Amino acid sequence: MNYSKRHFCGQLTADHVARTVQLCGWVDAYRDHGGLLFIHLRDRSGIVQIVFTPETTPAAICRESAMLRAEYCIAVSGEVKNRLAGTENPHIETGRLEVVVHDMEILAEAEPLPFAISDKSMVAGAETTGKEAVSEELRLQYRYLDIRRPAMHHNLLLRHRIFQCVRRFLDERGFVEVETPVLTMSTPEGARDYLVPSRVHQGSFYALPQSPQLFKQLLMIGGVERYFQMARCFRDEDLRPNRQPEFTQLDLEASFIDEEFLYKMIEELTVKMFTLGGITLPRPFPRMTYAEAMDATGSDRPDLRFGLRFVDVTDLFVNTDYAIFRQILQRGGCIKGINIKGQSDKLSKNVLQNEYAKEIAPSFGAKGMTWMRAENDRLESNIVQYFSEAELAGLKKRFAVADGDVLIMVADPSYAIVTSALGQLRLHLAHRLGLIPANSFHPVWVTEFPLFEATEEGGVTSSHHPFTAPDRTDFDPKNIEELLALRSRAYDLVVNGEELGGGSIRINNRDLQRKIFAALGLTEEETKEKFGFFLRAFDFGAPPHGGLALGMDRTVSMILQTPSIREVIAFPKNRSAACPLTGAPSKVKREQLAELGLLNLGGKAILPGSAAKENLLDRVSWVSRIGVNAEERPLLEDILRQSRELAAAVETLAVDEEPIRSPAPAAHRLRPGTEAQRSPFAASGQLFKNAPAVKGDYFKVATILE
Ligand code: ASP
Repeated sequence: MNYSKRHFCGQLTADHVARTVQLCGWVDAYRDHGGLLFIHLRDRSGIVQIVFTPETTPAAICRESAMLRAEYCIAVSGEVKNRLAGTENPHIETGRLEVVVHDMEILAEAEPLPFAISDKSMVAGAETTGKEAVSEELRLQYRYLDIRRPAMHHNLLLRHRIFQCVRRFLDERGFVEVETPVLTMSTPEGARDYLVPSRVHQGSFYALPQSPQLFKQLLMIGGVERYFQMARCFRDEDLRPNRQPEFTQLDLEASFIDEEFLYKMIEELTVKMFTLGGITLPRPFPRMTYAEAMDATGSDRPDLRFGLRFVDVTDLFVNTDYAIFRQILQRGGCIKGINIKGQSDKLSKNVLQNEYAKEIAPSFGAKGMTWMRAENDRLESNIVQYFSEAELAGLKKRFAVADGDVLIMVADPSYAIVTSALGQLRLHLAHRLGLIPANSFHPVWVTEFPLFEATEEGGVTSSHHPFTAPDRTDFDPKNIEELLALRSRAYDLVVNGEELGGGSIRINNRDLQRKIFAALGLTEEETKEKFGFFLRAFDFGAPPHGGLALGMDRTVSMILQTPSIREVIAFPKNRSAACPLTGAPSKVKREQLAELGLLNLGGKAILPGSAAKENLLDRVSWVSRIGVNAEERPLLEDILRQSRELAAAVETLAVDEEPIRSPAPAAHRLRPGTEAQRSPFAASGQLFKNAPAVKGDYFKVATILE
C-alpha cells in the first residue's frame, strides 16, 4: 500500500464515484450477509462503508475478510460507488456512497474490546449504537481506545482548534510564547507543591510550578513586554470533582498596560474561542465588584443566567417586634431575601418549612430561614402574625410581590453567613425549579477583590497571590484591620458561575512588595530566602505590568459542554488523582530512593543495614550507592558469604606482627618559592566537566557514610 495515495474515509464525496481509492483505518462495525460483507471503515476524518462482494472482490480477499473483527487496522483499495436507492445511511456523512473492495491488507489485528467504540449504526433508520454506560475508570484504563471514539476525537480536535485560535490571536497582538521551567522553586498560589527530589543535590527538591507567576514577571523585567504560554501547572490540592492535579493555563502577562487593556483583549479572545463551539457570548461583558457580587448573589462567582438576586430588607425591621430579627439586628446583623416569582405551586408550605427551613438552609450554614407565600394579595407563612402590617407592606413593596410569589429570607449577625447561605439557596432553588436556561452563557468580570483574607491565627493571607497590586500603598503592614480593608487590582473572568480565570495588575515597586511580604508575616530573612532573587530583579527598572491566566481545560469543557473536564484532556487523572492507564503514581525501587538520598531524610529513619534483621548485601549496596537488582543478588550474596568466611579465617590466624603505620600524616604542601596557581582547565570549566555537582573550585561527591 502506498500511503501517500491514501484518501480519507470521511472526505469521499460524489466526485469520487467511479474512481479507485486507497483507504486505511479501523473496522468500526461489520455486517455479514452471507458472502456479502459490509464494513464501516473509520479513520480520523470519519466513516465510509466498504463492501466485499464475490462479484467484484477477489476470492482470496473475500476469504480473508471473514477474519475481520472490530478495530482491526486495515488498508483497502476499491471503487467508489453510489449506494442503491433506499440503502443510504443518514448517520454518516458519506452515507450515499460505498467502496467496493478490490484489495485488502490486514495491518494489525485486535483482540475483543473492553467496550464498544463504534457509535454509528450501520442500518439506515436504526438507533445509533455505543450508548451503553461504560465506567470512566475502564475508559481511562484503555484511554487509547476511548480516544478512537468519534466523540472523544472531536473533543481533542476542538481543543486543538481553540488552542490554535489563542496562539494566532495573541501572536497577531505581539505576544511571544515563552516556556518557563517545570523543575523550579515554589510559586505561591495557595496550594501544596509537588516536589521532585534532586539526585545531584541530595536533600534538596525542585517544586513543580503551581503557575509560571514569578517567571512571567521576570520576563516583564526582562523586557519581553508581551508574553504568553500554554502552561502546565501542578497543584497538590484536596480532590474535587472537576479538578486535576496538573492542568493547562493560558498564562499571559504584558507591560505598560492597565486593567482596561486586558478586559478588552480577553473579552475579544473569549468571544472568539466560544464561537468555535457555536456559542455567541453577549457583549460587552458586564462587570461587578466583589462587594456587588456578594451583595446580590452571595458568591464571588456569580451565576447570572437567572435572576433570584438578593434584596436587602434589614432597614424594614429596625423597630420590629419579631424577637429573632430584633436580636439579630441588635447584634449588628442583616436580613436579605429572594423573591422566587410565580413558583408557589411548586414550593408548598410543607416543602418550604420541612425541607428548606429545617434541612437545606441549615446545611448551608444558616441558623434559620424565613419563608412567605403570596396568596390573595397577602403574605402567608407560619410566622406572619409576628410582623406588623407596615413590615409586611414594606416587604411586598421591596420585593415587588405578586400572587404566586415565594419569599425566602435569611437573617444572621454575620454578613458572611447571610450571603453564603442565601447564595447556596439561590443556586439550589434555581436547579430544583429549572430556572437555568439551557445553552445560555453569561460572562462577567468580577473586580476589586479584597487584597487579603483573615487567617485563623489572627494574621492575613493573600486572596490572590502576594504580587497583586493593592488599591493604595499608604497602609501600615502591621494593622490587620487596615489590611483587611484593602482592595486589590485583581479581576476574575466568571462564566455561568464558574471562574474561567483571573489575574491582576502587579506590584512593580520593590519597597511595596517588601511591605506586602511583611504584612503576610514573613520576616526579612524568610522574604530573602524565598523571594530574594525575585526582589533583586526589582532593583533594575521593573516596568508596570499585569496579566492573567485562563484555565484552558475548564474553558474548553464549557465550550464543548462536556460533563467533566476529563472529557477534554487526552490522558487525565481520575477522581483520586491517579492514572488508571499507567498506574501512576507508583511505588519506586529502594535503590532509586537510596540514589535520591530519600531513605534517611532527616536522619530519623533507620538506616538500611542498621536494623538487626537487615541484609548485609542491602547495607553494602546502600553504603556504596550501587543498586543491586534481583538477578545479581544470588551471585553477590555468594561473594559476600565467601568474603566473610575468608575474614573469619584470617581472624583465627595468630598474627603477632605490629601493624604497619603510615610514616607521616598526608598534607598538601607547596614547594618553597612557588605560587598557588589555578589550572587553566579549572578556569575553563574543563576540569569539572564530568563532576556531578560543583561548588566553587570543588566538586561534590555523594556522602559515603552517614
Ligand atoms: N498566576 C495566577 C494564577 O495562576 C494568574 C495570574 O495572576 O496571572 O491564578
